[in-house]
Amino acid sequence: MALLTLPELPYAKDALGFISEKTLSFHHDKHFKTYVDTANKLIEGTEFAGMPLMGILATAKGALFNNVSQAYNHDFYFKCLSPEKQDIPEKVDAALNSAFGSAEKFKEEFIKNAAGNFGSGWTWLVEDNDRKVRIFSTSNAGNPLSSGLKPLLVVDVWEHAYYLDYQNRRADYLKDFAEHINWGFVAENLV
Ligand code: MN
Repeated sequence: MALLTLPELPYAKDALGFISEKTLSFHHDKHFKTYVDTANKLIEGTEFAGMPLMGILATAKGALFNNVSQAYNHDFYFKCLSPEKQDIPEKVDAALNSAFGSAEKFKEEFIKNAAGNFGSGWTWLVEDNDRKVRIFSTSNAGNPLSSGLKPLLVVDVWEHAYYLDYQNRRADYLKDFAEHINWGFVAENLV
């Protein structure tokens, strides 16, 4: 039995506007699927079979960690996007105000960090053990769970996430991303 499954996108492939249907097709149906399939092949017949995803992420190394983490990160990323511009729920707005001064200042900081996340990686909004929210960047397949941080929001800055639509203009992709955040999902994560 396959341990990881490829979830459907929570919106139509042409719904986001700033990310094209072509990019979403490659990103979800090829990149994300390959991470899921490879992770399942690596898990099959090992002590990781039947282990919950979080358990695998906490103990796996090398290729298994990379593929399971990329599967987790992509599932999280696609849930962070919304076709419609959403209002920021009050508790999220309060957390952003407290940490960054305002939601707009958070967006600026987030874009700056993600633009400067060198090479391939992910830029997150996380909550730490003191219940403070902050920006946290990881490289390659990294995720904040490995550092004991709770992920609230992520943007994929691997080139495959934006190159067909934005080429080298990562900052433009990030500015558009910031206006398509699924704040309802962020609020669900901030418990
Ligand atoms: Mn990706």
